[in-house]
Amino acid sequence: MNQVDKKVAIVTGASRGIGAATAIKLASAGFSVAIHYRTDDALAQSIQAECPGSVLFKYDLSQPESCKALIDDVKGKMGSVDILVNNAGITRDALLAFAKPEDFDALISTNLRPIFLLSKYAGKLMMRKKWGRIINISSVIGFTGNPGQSLYASVKSGIVGFSRSAAQELAHFGILVNCVAPGFIVTDMTEALADEAKESILSTIPLKKFGSPMDVANAVAFLASDEAGYITGSTIHVNGGMYTP
Ligand code: NDP
Repeated sequence: MNQVDKKVAIVTGASRGIGAATAIKLASAGFSVAIHYRTDDALAQSIQAECPGSVLFKYDLSQPESCKALIDDVKGKMGSVDILVNNAGITRDALLAFAKPEDFDALISTNLRPIFLLSKYAGKLMMRKKWGRIINISSVIGFTGNPGQSLYASVKSGIVGFSRSAAQELAHFGILVNCVAPGFIVTDMTEALADEAKESILSTIPLKKFGSPMDVANAVAFLASDEAGYITGSTIHVNGGMYTP
């Protein structure tokens, strides 16, 4: 990609984990990357140093007004929004009997509502250009379910339903909408699990190893590439074989 036709890709939650790997991968593939993060300036700057031409954007996406502000800010500073990678997310694991309404609200407002709002605002810009890619990070748990993760599973499968509908609606405008559903990927999110839980999960993975953030980033980069131009409404599963649809 030369400087003139460089596309702008936003990656949310890109200061660590899967988001950071995705930002680095997309930058190395020639995209101008908008690195979104929420809290840690130093961490975000360290990822920016690995992404030539990238710009940092700090917003708490659980605040609805931040979603529009992020898209406007990226458009203002980088000129366009061509690719949106909705990666930012949290977990709130609890058995159903103990799960609280506020856990569900937090998951909706962090993992699901921003996908709707960012897609809505970025989608308007993409419609004008008759080109765009929206790539949403779901989870294997949205397909298999898991005890203690019914709330998380709700939003992760909700992301898939949202993406399928948006794909049908936006195809006419040249906008492709797809998901990547990671299995167990080694990040801060999974680091929090007890060793016994990790061993038990490992025994369910045919490839007998956990995934890396770059395994997921590679799938995202493929969906952002010209080679994926006839794929929309789909999900790529990156899980070492622990679930196949
Ligand atoms: P991490 O916990 O490592 O990183 C999550 C990112 O999301 C951080 O950058 C965090 O920012 C950001 N974030 C959290 N809350 C908000 C918010 N309110 N506004 C803006 N940004 C926010 O997670 P992973 O890299 O492991 O996961 C990334 C995505 O992949 C998530 O959607 C997750 O559900 C999904 N996933 C992960 C799997 C795994 O095994 N790791 C498996 C399946 C799916 P900050 O650092 O400031 O909090």
